[in-house]
Amino acid sequence: MQTEFDFLVLGGGSGGIAAARRAASYGARVALIERQRLGGTCVNVGCVPKKVMWNAAQLQEAMIEAQAYGFRLQQPWLDFSALKQSRDAYVARLNEIYRSNLLKDGIEIVEASARFVAPGVVEAGQRQLRAPHILIAVGAKPERPELKGAELGESSDDFFTWTELPKSLMVVGAGYIAVELAGALQALGVKVTLLTRGEFPLRHFDAMLGAELAAEYRRKGMQLEGSFTPLRLWRDGGELRLESNSGKVYGAEKLLWAIGRRPNTSGLGLETIGLQCDPKGGIAVDAFQNAQSAGVYAVGDVTNGPALTPVAIAAGRRLADRLFGGQSDARLEYDLIPTVVFSDPPIGAVGLSEQEALAKYGAATVYESRFINMYYALQSEKPVTRMKLICCGDEQRVVGLQVIGRGADEMTQGFAVALRMGARKVDFDRTIAIHPTAAEEFVTMRNARS
Ligand code: FAD
Ligand code: NDP
Repeated sequence: MQTEFDFLVLGGGSGGIAAARRAASYGARVALIERQRLGGTCVNVGCVPKKVMWNAAQLQEAMIEAQAYGFRLQQPWLDFSALKQSRDAYVARLNEIYRSNLLKDGIEIVEASARFVAPGVVEAGQRQLRAPHILIAVGAKPERPELKGAELGESSDDFFTWTELPKSLMVVGAGYIAVELAGALQALGVKVTLLTRGEFPLRHFDAMLGAELAAEYRRKGMQLEGSFTPLRLWRDGGELRLESNSGKVYGAEKLLWAIGRRPNTSGLGLETIGLQCDPKGGIAVDAFQNAQSAGVYAVGDVTNGPALTPVAIAAGRRLADRLFGGQSDARLEYDLIPTVVFSDPPIGAVGLSEQEALAKYGAATVYESRFINMYYALQSEKPVTRMKLICCGDEQRVVGLQVIGRGADEMTQGFAVALRMGARKVDFDRTIAIHPTAAEEFVTMRNARS
Protein backbone atom coordinates (compact mmCIF):
# COMPACT_ATOMS: atom_id res chain seq x y z
CA MET A 1 0.00 0.00 0.00
CA GLN A 2 1.21 3.46 -0.90
CA THR A 3 2.63 5.52 1.96
CA GLU A 4 4.15 8.51 0.11
CA PHE A 5 1.84 11.25 -1.16
CA ASP A 6 2.12 14.84 -2.36
CA PHE A 7 -0.71 16.01 -0.15
CA LEU A 8 -2.28 14.54 2.98
CA VAL A 9 -5.63 15.89 4.05
CA LEU A 10 -6.80 15.30 7.60
CA GLY A 11 -10.59 15.47 7.69
CA GLY A 12 -13.15 14.72 4.99
CA GLY A 13 -15.49 17.64 5.58
CA SER A 14 -16.20 20.77 3.54
CA GLY A 15 -12.64 22.15 3.57
CA GLY A 16 -10.76 18.86 3.34
CA ILE A 17 -12.74 17.44 0.42
CA ALA A 18 -12.56 20.71 -1.53
CA ALA A 19 -8.79 20.99 -1.06
CA ALA A 20 -8.18 17.31 -1.87
CA ARG A 21 -10.22 17.39 -5.08
CA ARG A 22 -8.67 20.65 -6.30
CA ALA A 23 -5.15 19.30 -5.59
CA ALA A 24 -5.94 16.06 -7.43
CA SER A 25 -7.18 18.08 -10.42
CA TYR A 26 -3.60 19.38 -10.76
CA GLY A 27 -2.23 15.84 -10.72
CA ALA A 28 -1.15 15.71 -7.07
CA ARG A 29 -1.15 12.31 -5.32
CA VAL A 30 -3.61 12.84 -2.51
CA ALA A 31 -4.78 10.82 0.51
CA LEU A 32 -7.73 12.00 2.58
CA ILE A 33 -8.15 10.64 6.10
CA GLU A 34 -11.61 10.66 7.65
CA ARG A 35 -12.65 8.97 10.86
CA GLN A 36 -16.40 9.30 10.49
CA ARG A 37 -18.77 9.94 7.61
CA LEU A 38 -17.60 11.78 4.51
CA GLY A 39 -18.95 15.30 4.15
CA GLY A 40 -18.15 16.36 7.71
CA THR A 41 -20.31 18.59 9.85
CA CYS A 42 -22.16 20.36 7.05
CA VAL A 43 -23.48 17.25 5.39
CA ASN A 44 -24.05 15.04 8.42
CA VAL A 45 -24.92 17.24 11.40
CA GLY A 46 -24.96 20.79 10.06
CA CYS A 47 -26.18 22.82 7.08
CA VAL A 48 -27.88 19.99 5.22
CA PRO A 49 -30.08 18.27 7.86
CA LYS A 50 -30.60 21.70 9.49
CA LYS A 51 -31.93 23.15 6.22
CA VAL A 52 -34.28 20.18 5.89
CA MET A 53 -35.64 21.04 9.33
CA TRP A 54 -35.93 24.71 8.38
CA ASN A 55 -37.83 23.74 5.23
CA ALA A 56 -40.16 21.57 7.32
CA ALA A 57 -40.81 24.52 9.65
CA GLN A 58 -41.53 26.80 6.67
CA LEU A 59 -44.02 24.25 5.32
CA GLN A 60 -45.72 24.00 8.70
CA GLU A 61 -46.14 27.76 8.80
CA ALA A 62 -47.24 27.93 5.17
CA MET A 63 -50.10 25.55 5.98
CA ILE A 64 -51.34 27.99 8.60
CA GLU A 65 -50.77 31.01 6.37
CA ALA A 66 -52.57 29.29 3.48
CA GLN A 67 -55.84 29.62 5.40
CA ALA A 68 -55.75 33.39 4.90
CA TYR A 69 -55.65 32.69 1.16
CA GLY A 70 -58.80 30.60 1.41
CA PHE A 71 -57.28 27.14 1.60
CA ARG A 72 -59.06 24.72 3.92
CA LEU A 73 -56.63 22.02 5.02
CA GLN A 74 -57.79 18.99 6.98
CA GLN A 75 -55.76 18.80 10.20
CA PRO A 76 -52.26 18.17 8.79
CA TRP A 77 -49.86 16.57 11.26
CA LEU A 78 -46.13 15.90 11.20
CA ASP A 79 -44.90 12.32 11.10
CA PHE A 80 -41.51 13.25 12.55
CA SER A 81 -40.01 9.79 12.24
CA ALA A 82 -40.88 9.77 8.52
CA LEU A 83 -39.22 13.16 8.15
CA LYS A 84 -36.13 11.89 9.96
CA GLN A 85 -35.95 8.78 7.80
CA SER A 86 -36.13 10.80 4.58
CA ARG A 87 -33.60 13.30 5.92
CA ASP A 88 -31.18 10.52 6.91
CA ALA A 89 -31.59 8.83 3.53
CA TYR A 90 -30.78 12.11 1.77
CA VAL A 91 -27.64 12.55 3.89
CA ALA A 92 -26.60 8.94 3.19
CA ARG A 93 -26.96 9.62 -0.56
CA LEU A 94 -24.71 12.66 -0.18
CA ASN A 95 -22.12 10.57 1.72
CA GLU A 96 -21.95 8.21 -1.25
CA ILE A 97 -21.75 11.03 -3.80
CA TYR A 98 -18.73 12.43 -1.91
CA ARG A 99 -17.10 9.00 -1.84
CA SER A 100 -17.56 8.37 -5.53
CA ASN A 101 -16.35 11.86 -6.46
CA LEU A 102 -13.17 11.41 -4.43
CA LEU A 103 -12.51 7.98 -5.92
CA LYS A 104 -13.20 9.28 -9.43
CA ASP A 105 -10.54 11.92 -8.81
CA GLY A 106 -8.02 9.22 -7.84
CA ILE A 107 -7.88 10.27 -4.18
CA GLU A 108 -7.14 7.55 -1.66
CA ILE A 109 -9.71 7.59 1.16
CA VAL A 110 -8.30 6.33 4.45
CA GLU A 111 -10.99 5.50 6.99
CA ALA A 112 -9.22 6.09 10.29
CA SER A 113 -8.40 8.65 12.91
CA ALA A 114 -5.32 10.65 11.96
CA ARG A 115 -2.57 11.99 14.20
CA PHE A 116 0.86 13.44 13.59
CA VAL A 117 3.74 11.26 14.82
CA ALA A 118 6.61 13.33 13.38
CA PRO A 119 7.08 16.24 10.96
CA GLY A 120 5.65 15.13 7.62
CA VAL A 121 4.34 11.84 9.03
CA VAL A 122 0.76 11.01 9.95
CA GLU A 123 -0.49 7.82 11.55
CA ALA A 124 -3.88 6.58 10.39
CA GLY A 125 -4.95 3.24 11.82
CA GLN A 126 -2.11 0.77 11.15
CA ARG A 127 -0.51 2.97 8.50
CA GLN A 128 2.04 5.75 8.49
CA LEU A 129 1.55 8.19 5.63
CA ARG A 130 4.05 10.82 4.50
CA ALA A 131 3.78 13.99 2.44
CA PRO A 132 5.60 17.33 2.11
CA HIS A 133 2.25 19.14 2.39
CA ILE A 134 -0.29 18.30 5.09
CA LEU A 135 -3.64 20.03 5.55
CA ILE A 136 -5.46 20.01 8.87
CA ALA A 137 -9.20 20.26 8.16
CA VAL A 138 -10.57 18.39 11.15
CA GLY A 139 -13.36 20.85 11.99
CA ALA A 140 -14.91 21.33 15.41
CA LYS A 141 -17.44 19.79 17.76
CA PRO A 142 -20.15 21.19 20.03
CA GLU A 143 -18.94 22.88 23.22
CA ARG A 144 -20.48 22.01 26.58
CA PRO A 145 -20.30 24.30 29.59
CA GLU A 146 -18.44 23.23 32.69
CA LEU A 147 -21.26 23.23 35.17
CA LYS A 148 -23.01 20.74 37.38
CA GLY A 149 -25.35 18.48 35.41
CA ALA A 150 -24.19 19.76 31.98
CA GLU A 151 -24.14 16.17 30.69
CA LEU A 152 -27.95 16.04 30.99
CA GLY A 153 -28.19 18.59 28.19
CA GLU A 154 -27.73 17.70 24.52
CA SER A 155 -25.97 19.23 21.53
CA SER A 156 -26.91 19.90 17.92
CA ASP A 157 -25.23 16.55 17.06
CA ASP A 158 -27.65 14.81 19.44
CA PHE A 159 -30.58 16.74 18.01
CA PHE A 160 -30.06 15.09 14.63
CA THR A 161 -30.50 11.64 16.23
CA TRP A 162 -33.91 12.46 17.75
CA THR A 163 -36.68 10.17 16.52
CA GLU A 164 -39.42 12.20 18.14
CA LEU A 165 -39.84 15.80 19.18
CA PRO A 166 -40.04 16.79 22.84
CA LYS A 167 -43.06 18.72 24.04
CA SER A 168 -40.84 21.41 25.54
CA LEU A 169 -37.22 22.45 25.12
CA MET A 170 -34.74 24.88 26.64
CA VAL A 171 -32.13 26.18 24.21
CA VAL A 172 -29.09 27.82 25.79
CA GLY A 173 -27.01 30.04 23.52
CA ALA A 174 -27.32 33.11 21.38
CA GLY A 175 -25.62 32.29 18.11
CA TYR A 176 -26.57 30.71 14.80
CA ILE A 177 -27.38 27.24 16.11
CA ALA A 178 -29.42 28.44 19.08
CA VAL A 179 -31.69 30.69 17.05
CA GLU A 180 -31.97 28.30 14.10
CA LEU A 181 -32.96 25.23 16.10
CA ALA A 182 -35.15 27.24 18.48
CA GLY A 183 -37.02 28.79 15.54
CA ALA A 184 -37.54 25.55 13.62
CA LEU A 185 -38.65 23.59 16.67
CA GLN A 186 -41.03 26.29 17.87
CA ALA A 187 -42.64 26.30 14.41
CA LEU A 188 -42.94 22.50 14.53
CA GLY A 189 -44.93 22.69 17.77
CA VAL A 190 -42.28 22.39 20.49
CA LYS A 191 -42.65 24.83 23.39
CA VAL A 192 -39.24 26.52 23.25
CA THR A 193 -37.50 28.65 25.86
CA LEU A 194 -34.42 30.48 24.53
CA LEU A 195 -31.97 31.47 27.25
CA THR A 196 -29.27 34.00 26.33
CA ARG A 197 -26.44 35.54 28.33
CA GLY A 198 -26.89 38.95 26.72
CA GLU A 199 -30.11 40.91 26.38
CA PHE A 200 -30.72 39.64 22.83
CA PRO A 201 -29.54 36.75 20.68
CA LEU A 202 -27.06 37.31 17.84
CA ARG A 203 -25.22 40.09 19.59
CA HIS A 204 -22.25 39.70 17.26
CA PHE A 205 -24.49 40.82 14.39
CA ASP A 206 -25.99 44.26 13.70
CA ALA A 207 -28.02 45.11 16.81
CA MET A 208 -31.22 45.58 14.79
CA LEU A 209 -31.26 41.90 13.82
CA GLY A 210 -31.18 40.27 17.25
CA ALA A 211 -33.72 42.72 18.67
CA GLU A 212 -36.15 42.17 15.78
CA LEU A 213 -35.69 38.39 15.89
CA ALA A 214 -36.40 38.36 19.63
CA ALA A 215 -39.60 40.34 19.02
CA GLU A 216 -40.67 37.93 16.25
CA TYR A 217 -39.92 34.86 18.36
CA ARG A 218 -41.99 36.30 21.22
CA ARG A 219 -44.83 37.00 18.80
CA LYS A 220 -44.69 33.34 17.75
CA GLY A 221 -45.04 32.27 21.38
CA MET A 222 -41.45 31.44 22.21
CA GLN A 223 -40.26 32.32 25.70
CA LEU A 224 -37.03 34.33 25.71
CA GLU A 225 -34.98 35.20 28.75
CA GLY A 226 -31.93 37.47 28.45
CA SER A 227 -29.13 38.06 30.97
CA PHE A 228 -29.34 34.35 31.83
CA THR A 229 -26.04 32.75 32.81
CA PRO A 230 -26.53 29.02 33.47
CA LEU A 231 -25.34 27.71 36.84
CA ARG A 232 -26.59 24.13 37.29
CA LEU A 233 -28.81 21.59 35.55
CA TRP A 234 -30.67 18.72 37.17
CA ARG A 235 -33.50 16.28 36.53
CA ASP A 236 -36.71 16.67 38.47
CA GLY A 237 -39.15 13.87 37.58
CA GLY A 238 -39.85 14.07 33.85
CA GLU A 239 -38.29 17.53 33.47
CA LEU A 240 -34.86 19.07 33.34
CA ARG A 241 -34.39 22.19 35.40
CA LEU A 242 -31.80 24.87 34.76
CA GLU A 243 -30.90 27.52 37.30
CA SER A 244 -29.16 30.79 36.43
CA ASN A 245 -26.56 32.45 38.61
CA SER A 246 -29.22 34.93 39.70
CA GLY A 247 -31.46 32.12 40.98
CA LYS A 248 -34.00 31.94 38.13
CA VAL A 249 -35.13 28.42 37.29
CA TYR A 250 -36.57 27.18 33.98
CA GLY A 251 -37.79 23.68 33.16
CA ALA A 252 -38.44 21.62 30.02
CA GLU A 253 -38.37 18.04 28.79
CA LYS A 254 -35.02 18.53 27.05
CA LEU A 255 -32.20 21.06 26.91
CA LEU A 256 -29.90 21.92 24.02
CA TRP A 257 -26.51 23.54 24.57
CA ALA A 258 -25.74 25.80 21.60
CA ILE A 259 -22.88 27.81 23.05
CA GLY A 260 -20.27 27.50 20.33
CA ARG A 261 -17.94 24.83 19.00
CA ARG A 262 -14.44 23.66 19.91
CA PRO A 263 -11.81 22.71 17.28
CA ASN A 264 -11.04 18.97 17.05
CA THR A 265 -7.34 19.37 17.85
CA SER A 266 -6.95 17.27 20.98
CA GLY A 267 -5.25 13.94 20.25
CA LEU A 268 -3.97 15.17 16.88
CA GLY A 269 -0.32 14.90 17.96
CA LEU A 270 0.34 18.56 17.19
CA GLU A 271 3.08 18.63 19.83
CA THR A 272 5.13 16.26 17.64
CA ILE A 273 5.32 18.94 14.94
CA GLY A 274 5.79 21.85 17.33
CA LEU A 275 2.33 23.36 16.82
CA GLN A 276 0.59 25.02 19.72
CA CYS A 277 -3.13 25.69 19.72
CA ASP A 278 -4.74 28.89 20.96
CA PRO A 279 -6.65 28.70 24.29
CA LYS A 280 -9.83 27.65 22.45
CA GLY A 281 -8.02 24.78 20.72
CA GLY A 282 -7.85 26.53 17.34
CA ILE A 283 -4.91 26.56 14.93
CA ALA A 284 -3.54 29.98 14.04
CA VAL A 285 -2.88 30.48 10.32
CA ASP A 286 -1.60 33.35 8.22
CA ALA A 287 -3.44 34.83 5.24
CA PHE A 288 -2.29 31.87 3.11
CA GLN A 289 -3.57 29.21 5.55
CA ASN A 290 0.01 28.37 6.65
CA ALA A 291 0.19 27.04 10.20
CA GLN A 292 3.31 27.74 12.26
CA SER A 293 5.02 24.52 11.20
CA ALA A 294 6.64 24.10 7.77
CA GLY A 295 4.48 22.23 5.22
CA VAL A 296 1.42 22.28 7.51
CA TYR A 297 -1.77 24.21 6.70
CA ALA A 298 -5.22 24.53 8.22
CA VAL A 299 -8.62 25.57 6.86
CA GLY A 300 -12.19 25.71 8.10
CA ASP A 301 -13.58 25.41 11.61
CA VAL A 302 -10.28 24.26 13.10
CA THR A 303 -8.93 27.78 12.46
CA ASN A 304 -10.35 30.97 13.89
CA GLY A 305 -11.88 32.20 10.64
CA PRO A 306 -15.64 32.36 10.10
CA ALA A 307 -17.03 28.85 10.66
CA LEU A 308 -19.01 28.58 7.44
CA THR A 309 -18.99 25.85 4.81
CA PRO A 310 -18.31 28.07 1.78
CA VAL A 311 -15.41 29.66 3.68
CA ALA A 312 -13.83 26.26 4.40
CA ILE A 313 -14.35 25.21 0.78
CA ALA A 314 -12.93 28.40 -0.71
CA ALA A 315 -9.92 28.40 1.65
CA GLY A 316 -9.21 24.75 0.78
CA ARG A 317 -9.43 25.37 -2.96
CA ARG A 318 -7.24 28.49 -2.87
CA LEU A 319 -4.65 26.58 -0.86
CA ALA A 320 -4.56 23.75 -3.43
CA ASP A 321 -4.34 26.35 -6.24
CA ARG A 322 -1.30 27.81 -4.51
CA LEU A 323 0.45 24.54 -3.62
CA PHE A 324 -0.24 22.55 -6.79
CA GLY A 325 -1.76 24.90 -9.36
CA GLY A 326 1.11 27.34 -9.75
CA GLN A 327 -0.94 30.26 -8.37
CA SER A 328 1.52 31.58 -5.82
CA ASP A 329 -0.75 34.45 -4.71
CA ALA A 330 -3.93 32.41 -4.31
CA ARG A 331 -5.60 33.04 -0.98
CA LEU A 332 -9.07 33.64 0.35
CA GLU A 333 -10.14 37.22 0.99
CA TYR A 334 -11.87 37.09 4.33
CA ASP A 335 -13.75 40.39 4.10
CA LEU A 336 -17.34 40.78 2.85
CA ILE A 337 -18.31 37.18 3.52
CA PRO A 338 -22.08 36.97 3.17
CA THR A 339 -24.05 34.89 5.64
CA VAL A 340 -27.59 33.77 6.29
CA VAL A 341 -29.00 32.74 9.64
CA PHE A 342 -31.82 30.28 9.01
CA SER A 343 -33.90 31.63 11.83
CA ASP A 344 -37.64 32.16 11.43
CA PRO A 345 -37.75 34.65 9.74
CA PRO A 346 -34.31 34.32 8.17
CA ILE A 347 -31.56 36.90 8.40
CA GLY A 348 -29.08 37.94 5.72
CA ALA A 349 -25.94 39.98 6.31
CA VAL A 350 -22.95 41.09 4.24
CA GLY A 351 -20.13 43.34 5.35
CA LEU A 352 -20.14 45.50 8.44
CA SER A 353 -22.78 45.94 11.09
CA GLU A 354 -23.63 49.52 12.02
CA GLN A 355 -21.54 49.18 15.19
CA GLU A 356 -18.55 47.90 13.19
CA ALA A 357 -18.90 50.61 10.52
CA LEU A 358 -18.92 53.35 13.14
CA ALA A 359 -15.88 51.86 14.84
CA LYS A 360 -13.99 51.54 11.54
CA TYR A 361 -14.99 54.76 9.74
CA GLY A 362 -16.03 57.03 12.61
CA ALA A 363 -19.24 57.92 10.78
CA ALA A 364 -21.81 56.09 8.67
CA THR A 365 -24.93 56.99 6.72
CA VAL A 366 -27.63 54.49 7.57
CA TYR A 367 -30.72 53.82 5.46
CA GLU A 368 -33.43 51.72 7.06
CA SER A 369 -36.70 50.23 5.96
CA ARG A 370 -39.43 48.51 7.97
CA PHE A 371 -42.45 47.04 6.21
CA ILE A 372 -44.86 44.12 5.96
CA ASN A 373 -44.13 41.69 3.15
CA MET A 374 -47.12 41.49 0.77
CA TYR A 375 -47.25 37.73 1.41
CA TYR A 376 -48.83 38.55 4.78
CA ALA A 377 -51.32 41.10 3.41
CA LEU A 378 -54.31 38.78 3.76
CA GLN A 379 -53.64 37.52 7.28
CA SER A 380 -54.00 39.17 10.65
CA GLU A 381 -50.51 38.14 11.89
CA LYS A 382 -48.08 40.52 10.20
CA PRO A 383 -44.39 39.67 10.65
CA VAL A 384 -42.14 42.63 9.97
CA THR A 385 -39.28 42.84 7.47
CA ARG A 386 -36.41 45.17 8.34
CA MET A 387 -33.51 46.21 6.17
CA LYS A 388 -30.47 48.35 6.64
CA LEU A 389 -27.88 49.76 4.25
CA ILE A 390 -24.74 51.20 5.80
CA CYS A 391 -22.75 53.60 3.63
CA CYS A 392 -19.40 55.16 4.37
CA GLY A 393 -16.79 57.52 2.96
CA ASP A 394 -16.86 60.30 0.35
CA GLU A 395 -18.23 57.96 -2.28
CA GLN A 396 -20.83 56.49 0.09
CA ARG A 397 -19.83 52.90 -0.59
CA VAL A 398 -22.23 50.33 0.80
CA VAL A 399 -20.10 48.67 3.46
CA GLY A 400 -22.87 46.73 5.16
CA LEU A 401 -26.24 45.29 4.24
CA GLN A 402 -28.58 43.65 6.74
CA VAL A 403 -32.02 42.14 6.37
CA ILE A 404 -34.42 40.16 8.52
CA GLY A 405 -37.65 38.90 7.01
CA ARG A 406 -39.24 36.53 4.56
CA GLY A 407 -36.93 35.88 1.59
CA ALA A 408 -33.79 37.24 3.26
CA ASP A 409 -32.13 33.87 2.74
CA GLU A 410 -32.39 34.02 -1.04
CA MET A 411 -31.93 37.76 -1.60
CA THR A 412 -28.58 38.26 0.15
CA GLN A 413 -26.29 36.40 -2.27
CA GLY A 414 -26.87 38.78 -5.18
CA PHE A 415 -26.29 41.86 -3.08
CA ALA A 416 -23.04 40.28 -1.86
CA VAL A 417 -21.78 40.44 -5.46
CA ALA A 418 -22.61 44.16 -5.58
CA LEU A 419 -20.73 44.84 -2.33
CA ARG A 420 -17.76 42.75 -3.50
CA MET A 421 -17.64 44.95 -6.63
CA GLY A 422 -17.57 48.07 -4.45
CA ALA A 423 -21.13 49.27 -5.08
CA ARG A 424 -21.99 52.79 -3.89
CA LYS A 425 -25.37 53.99 -2.69
CA VAL A 426 -25.78 55.76 -6.02
CA ASP A 427 -25.41 52.42 -7.82
CA PHE A 428 -28.21 50.96 -5.72
CA ASP A 429 -30.33 54.06 -6.52
CA ARG A 430 -29.70 53.69 -10.27
CA THR A 431 -30.86 50.07 -10.24
CA ILE A 432 -34.46 49.54 -11.32
CA ALA A 433 -36.61 47.80 -8.74
CA ILE A 434 -38.27 44.44 -9.35
CA HIS A 435 -41.87 44.80 -8.29
CA PRO A 436 -43.55 43.53 -6.20
CA THR A 437 -40.77 41.97 -4.15
CA ALA A 438 -39.26 42.58 -0.75
CA ALA A 439 -35.76 42.92 -2.19
CA GLU A 440 -36.77 46.01 -4.20
CA GLU A 441 -36.69 47.98 -0.93
CA PHE A 442 -32.89 47.85 -1.07
CA VAL A 443 -32.86 49.94 -4.27
CA THR A 444 -35.59 52.37 -3.23
CA MET A 445 -34.28 53.58 0.12
CA ARG A 446 -34.22 57.37 -0.08
CA ASN A 447 -33.88 58.93 3.34
CA ALA A 448 -30.93 58.34 5.57
CA ARG A 449 -31.62 58.07 9.27
CA SER A 450 -30.82 61.37 10.87
P1 FAD B 1 -15.98 19.64 9.08
O1 FAD B 1 -16.99 19.73 8.03
O2 FAD B 1 -16.44 19.50 10.48
O3 FAD B 1 -15.06 18.39 8.72
C1 FAD B 1 -14.06 17.92 9.57
C2 FAD B 1 -13.95 16.43 9.40
O4 FAD B 1 -12.76 15.99 10.06
C3 FAD B 1 -15.10 15.66 10.07
O5 FAD B 1 -15.71 14.82 9.12
C4 FAD B 1 -14.42 14.86 11.18
O6 FAD B 1 -15.01 13.59 11.37
C5 FAD B 1 -13.01 14.72 10.66
N1 FAD B 1 -12.00 14.53 11.70
C6 FAD B 1 -11.87 15.19 12.87
N2 FAD B 1 -10.77 14.77 13.52
C7 FAD B 1 -10.21 13.81 12.75
C8 FAD B 1 -9.05 13.01 12.87
N3 FAD B 1 -8.24 13.11 13.93
N4 FAD B 1 -8.79 12.12 11.90
C9 FAD B 1 -9.59 12.00 10.81
N5 FAD B 1 -10.69 12.75 10.63
C10 FAD B 1 -10.99 13.65 11.58
N6 FAD B 1 -22.35 26.61 7.61
C11 FAD B 1 -22.91 27.25 6.56
O7 FAD B 1 -22.20 27.83 5.74
N7 FAD B 1 -24.27 27.26 6.40
C12 FAD B 1 -25.10 26.63 7.26
O8 FAD B 1 -26.32 26.67 7.08
C13 FAD B 1 -24.53 25.96 8.37
N8 FAD B 1 -25.31 25.32 9.25
C14 FAD B 1 -24.75 24.66 10.30
C15 FAD B 1 -25.59 24.01 11.20
C16 FAD B 1 -25.05 23.33 12.28
C17 FAD B 1 -25.97 22.65 13.26
C18 FAD B 1 -23.64 23.29 12.44
C19 FAD B 1 -23.05 22.52 13.59
C20 FAD B 1 -22.80 23.91 11.55
C21 FAD B 1 -23.35 24.62 10.47
N9 FAD B 1 -22.55 25.30 9.56
C22 FAD B 1 -23.12 25.97 8.51
C23 FAD B 1 -21.09 25.32 9.71
C24 FAD B 1 -20.42 24.31 8.77
O9 FAD B 1 -21.00 23.05 8.96
C25 FAD B 1 -18.93 24.27 9.05
O10 FAD B 1 -18.40 25.57 8.98
C26 FAD B 1 -18.20 23.38 8.05
O11 FAD B 1 -18.71 22.08 8.06
C27 FAD B 1 -16.71 23.36 8.39
O12 FAD B 1 -16.02 22.53 7.51
P2 FAD B 1 -14.62 21.91 7.94
O13 FAD B 1 -14.11 21.20 6.74
O14 FAD B 1 -13.78 22.91 8.58
O15 FAD B 1 -14.97 20.85 9.07
P1 NDP C 1 -21.85 30.82 17.84
O1 NDP C 1 -20.44 31.17 18.03
O2 NDP C 1 -22.55 31.33 16.65
O3 NDP C 1 -22.70 31.26 19.10
C1 NDP C 1 -22.50 30.75 20.36
C2 NDP C 1 -23.07 31.75 21.34
O4 NDP C 1 -23.35 31.11 22.57
C3 NDP C 1 -22.09 32.85 21.63
O5 NDP C 1 -22.22 33.87 20.72
C4 NDP C 1 -22.46 33.27 23.04
O6 NDP C 1 -23.36 34.34 22.94
C5 NDP C 1 -23.18 32.05 23.62
N1 NDP C 1 -22.40 31.42 24.70
C6 NDP C 1 -21.10 31.08 24.67
N2 NDP C 1 -20.73 30.50 25.83
C7 NDP C 1 -21.84 30.48 26.59
C8 NDP C 1 -22.10 30.01 27.91
N3 NDP C 1 -21.16 29.45 28.64
N4 NDP C 1 -23.35 30.15 28.40
C9 NDP C 1 -24.33 30.73 27.65
N5 NDP C 1 -24.13 31.20 26.41
C10 NDP C 1 -22.90 31.08 25.88
O7 NDP C 1 -21.87 29.25 17.91
P2 NDP C 1 -22.92 28.17 17.46
O8 NDP C 1 -22.65 27.00 18.32
O9 NDP C 1 -24.28 28.72 17.38
O10 NDP C 1 -22.44 27.85 15.98
C11 NDP C 1 -21.06 27.58 15.68
C12 NDP C 1 -20.72 28.14 14.35
O11 NDP C 1 -21.26 27.33 13.31
C13 NDP C 1 -21.30 29.53 14.10
O12 NDP C 1 -20.49 30.55 14.62
C14 NDP C 1 -21.36 29.59 12.60
O13 NDP C 1 -20.16 30.06 12.10
C15 NDP C 1 -21.59 28.13 12.20
N6 NDP C 1 -22.99 27.97 11.84
C16 NDP C 1 -23.44 28.60 10.71
C17 NDP C 1 -24.74 28.53 10.35
C18 NDP C 1 -25.20 29.24 9.12
O14 NDP C 1 -24.39 29.62 8.31
N7 NDP C 1 -26.49 29.48 8.94
C19 NDP C 1 -25.71 27.77 11.13
C20 NDP C 1 -25.14 27.13 12.29
C21 NDP C 1 -23.83 27.24 12.62
P3 NDP C 1 -23.18 35.65 23.84
O15 NDP C 1 -21.78 36.05 23.72
O16 NDP C 1 -24.18 36.62 23.28
O17 NDP C 1 -23.54 35.19 25.22
